[in-house]
Amino acid sequence: MDRTRGRDRGRSICHAQGMLPAMVIDIHVHTRSTVGPTRYGTGQTYATPEQLIEMYDEVGIDRAVILPGVNPECSHHIQSVQDALEICERYPDRFIPFCNINPRQVRNSPDADLGYLMEYYKEVGCRGIGEVTANLAFDDPLVENLFAHAERVGLPLTFHVATQEGGTYGLIDDLHLPRFEAAVAKFPDLVFLCHSQAFWSEISGDVTEETRGGYPRGPVTEGGKAAELIRSHPNVYGDLSAGSGFNAVSRDPEFGYRFLDECQDKLLFGTDVCAPSNRNDVLINLKNFLEDALAQGHISQTVFDKVMYRNAERLLGL
Ligand SMILES: [Zn+2]
Repeated sequence: MDRTRGRDRGRSICHAQGMLPAMVIDIHVHTRSTVGPTRYGTGQTYATPEQLIEMYDEVGIDRAVILPGVNPECSHHIQSVQDALEICERYPDRFIPFCNINPRQVRNSPDADLGYLMEYYKEVGCRGIGEVTANLAFDDPLVENLFAHAERVGLPLTFHVATQEGGTYGLIDDLHLPRFEAAVAKFPDLVFLCHSQAFWSEISGDVTEETRGGYPRGPVTEGGKAAELIRSHPNVYGDLSAGSGFNAVSRDPEFGYRFLDECQDKLLFGTDVCAPSNRNDVLINLKNFLEDALAQGHISQTVFDKVMYRNAERLLGL
């Protein structure tokens, strides 16, 4: 891979100062081996692995975790875990597979043995589970069954939070995430990789029923549930991908720098690229913010390296 080519095109000032990370790992991406139907109303398809690698080379991202899109709630082009595995086999230096298991799988029962599937996928190289987007409550017996098996098998789990049942995707929770908090306590050895608007809007204590599903702007106030959960539970990690993760650390930059420093072992760089058009937003927004924060001395090289790749390496055993 020609990293210089991409880095020369980036806008971040730390490039010019030579402070490059040894590695960048994207903890959260979606791709499909073939171009399928477009996302309704957008005209966009998922990026193919080849398109994604081209985008990564442009900006200097080395490796990425593929989260297979097995759930109908949020995919216009359903993907098998096998497709994700084959992509990773084709590009072993670039992609790391997660498996994905819908809580209804095997036999739509809270006592279904989902663990044997997880053990199979772990054996063939999957480093985690997700993105879990089934539109069921965090405390639905089917979901708790998924969590129990994931905890026992020892795979971290990436999830998306939904604010409601229907008309959306993700595990359903209420304002301030009481159901997720209960799951964190009930499954203390399951590593949760937290993602989505309804998780990261909780970075600020003043989030409301009206703002929790979006990208609230402005200063971060005390008492945010997301920060509290990451701080106080060893099994809760922050996936900084997408507009939601970027917003959480950038809406109030002074807060963001402190949060990155304080939770430096618990936060992971990610993009959530879903289409080639994302080269203009999620591919670059968080990366540029973090690189600028480093170059301007707001975060240390140690913090930067942990967020960019060291935490992912440690967590996934890379
Ligand atoms: Zn995603």
